[in-house]
Amino acid sequence: MTVREALRTGAAALEASRVPDARLDAEYLLADLLRTDRLRLLADADTPLTAAQAETYRALLARRAAREPLQYILGTQPFMGHLLAVSPAALIPRADTEILCEEALAALRPLCQAGPGVRALDLCTGSGALAIALKAACPSAAVTATDLSDDALRLARDNAFQLGVDVSFVQGDLFAPLAGERFALIVSNPPYIPRPELPTLQAEVLFEPRMALDGGEDGLDFYRRIAREAPAHLVRGGQLMLEIGSPQAGDVCALLSENGLTRLRVVRDLAGLDRVVVGVLEGPSI
Ligand code: GLN
Repeated sequence: MTVREALRTGAAALEASRVPDARLDAEYLLADLLRTDRLRLLADADTPLTAAQAETYRALLARRAAREPLQYILGTQPFMGHLLAVSPAALIPRADTEILCEEALAALRPLCQAGPGVRALDLCTGSGALAIALKAACPSAAVTATDLSDDALRLARDNAFQLGVDVSFVQGDLFAPLAGERFALIVSNPPYIPRPELPTLQAEVLFEPRMALDGGEDGLDFYRRIAREAPAHLVRGGQLMLEIGSPQAGDVCALLSENGLTRLRVVRDLAGLDRVVVGVLEGPSI
């Protein structure tokens, strides 16, 4: 079997299982197996596969046909230009979350240029994507990240180590391990799917940890707690930035406002959907 034939039969097998982008995923899987990239793979389409390679390719296709996310099979996902390891211990970083990261960097960069000692916090860090991208872009900032899951933190620490980025990862429930600590910037992509919607999600999402997705009955449980607790952990003038599900902007703004945060802003993603809410703890900086 040649590369060309393998891609044709692979794409057909994935299509039969209604995998979105079947041909593309067939290419990614074979390129990964042959330790090459998609372009070289297509240029060498007449190369024959060994029997062992064909066997392994069939096994990879079977996993993808069962709707296991491509990123879990490949073991990696890029985020803000960093190649992160991913595993079922944590949510696969999304392009949506890069919107939150860009917004956070727009706030953090000038603070870091103005002076040392700027502290940033990432709650529910998962793979570590946000915390690592912030620290990589603003090395003078002190970045802390928390997660409830030890398995996620192992993955996050490994990612930070591999990328040579120094983030302080702390196990705990939201702010619980951070008594008395204040930050100029707090970011979070908490679980926000309303529980009744979980079974309706795309098949691939069901491979991701439920605890990274389940936002309680109405999806707002984490926003309630973060909004209530954030003011005690922000410096005056500090900003809270939260990724949201697109219908949640009004509710999340209301929660931030009830807890004394002001200058509320909603940032849209590239699809034009509400994706990030920003609030400020007013007052002179301390
Ligand atoms: N954006 C994710 C999804 O739709 C959900 C992430 C989250 O709950 N934080 O799958």
